[in-house]
Amino acid sequence: MTRFAYSRRSRLRRSLAAVTAVLLPLLGAGLALPGGASAALPDTEQAYYDVTSPSATTAGLAADLTRRGYDVLEGSLNSGVPILATAADAQRLRHRGLSVRYAGPLHQPVAASFRAAAGTYYGGYHTAAGHEAHNQQVATAHPDLVVLRSIGQSWLKTQNRGGHDIQALCITKIKAGDCAISTNGTKPKFTLMAQMHARELATGELAYMWIDYLVNNYGTNADVTRLMDTTELWVIPIANPDGVDIVSSNSTRPVSQRKNAHDNGCSGTGRGVDLNRNSSYHWDVNQGTTCSQTYPGTSAASEPETQGIQNFLAGIYRDTKPSADFSPATTDTTGTFLTLHSYGELNIYPYGWTNSLAPNNDDLRTIATAMSQSNHYEVVHGDGGLNYFAPGATDDWIYGTRGVPGYTIEVGPSSSGCSGFFPRYSCMSGFWNLNRPAFMALASAAARPYPTGH
Ligand SMILES: [Zn+2]
Repeated sequence: MTRFAYSRRSRLRRSLAAVTAVLLPLLGAGLALPGGASAALPDTEQAYYDVTSPSATTAGLAADLTRRGYDVLEGSLNSGVPILATAADAQRLRHRGLSVRYAGPLHQPVAASFRAAAGTYYGGYHTAAGHEAHNQQVATAHPDLVVLRSIGQSWLKTQNRGGHDIQALCITKIKAGDCAISTNGTKPKFTLMAQMHARELATGELAYMWIDYLVNNYGTNADVTRLMDTTELWVIPIANPDGVDIVSSNSTRPVSQRKNAHDNGCSGTGRGVDLNRNSSYHWDVNQGTTCSQTYPGTSAASEPETQGIQNFLAGIYRDTKPSADFSPATTDTTGTFLTLHSYGELNIYPYGWTNSLAPNNDDLRTIATAMSQSNHYEVVHGDGGLNYFAPGATDDWIYGTRGVPGYTIEVGPSSSGCSGFFPRYSCMSGFWNLNRPAFMALASAAARPYPTGH
């Protein structure tokens, strides 16, 4: 039986997720597994399943499950519609006449002998506090290369209930005027942002590794040195620190929190707003109800995390695009932007709210294709072939409002054992080797992203 048979031809883009809206009362104990196996998964235990219907098309079924509030995942539909669900919900779907195949556990076992180092969990992933300590450490150790800034606050912090500042690092060989919150700097800018969806563990860790790679290779690696001499490399390692606190609250079985921690009356991982549906560009009220995984919030940029990130990006990137959606950014645009998600194996470029081609489509696609030279993920835009869009996402916002090419990498499995939101920590080296050259390609494109103007 294939687990996580996500091919690189995946057609679903980003998470279409919407959480299990209602947790059924606990019923019964067992769960029939394919091949006659059975397991006594607790009814509240989340796992991955592939759902198929005897009558509906796979795409139609995906849309139906999303509407019904299931956590529908990005990835290939070759084996059915992938969902993250409790055993009780899987059984409920079977009672509706659907075929529901167990595809694998949410969590990988962490050795009992493993003792988490300070600031880490689940085999080595860094907590929000661990990232903050790391940010401070590299800034202190490399004052000639790193500036650490606070660019906003998390929702809990705005409520005086703990929480965090949103932190950003500027990494470059610092000269006078560099790393200011200003659109007038002399160096083009590349920003890498991670873990806006808190449960996408690999993304924050890639940001952590990118920071270390840059500061540790300046002056020895020619490509890194040239890049840091010519470009401001901004990193927002944790865009959603409150969400990451929820995820890491269980150090061996992380919590599958996607959204921020905005207390909206929903239980469990229904709490919060999807920050990647909350931007003020093509914000869409119909993306999900309050407790769903794609709930866009009460209004555009309602969340303090969104406000902080948008204000920061608007503060460092010059606006070179007329506001009309289909008027192109000018050829003198500089800068690139990347937001990391997981785990659909996609390089996504604007627009994500419509299938109509962005006015800079040719140049946008050229860069995405260069990224795929190393990670070999599929290059997509729009709905990726299905009727699902991601209005209110950060990548569309930065292109649509500033003209800066904005990309999403859906960091995917390098083998079946590394799939899912919570891969073993040992999977990180594979993710890094695949994606580091893609980061370099996108950073190098910041000087002149639109050579043709088309
Ligand atoms: Zn995501």
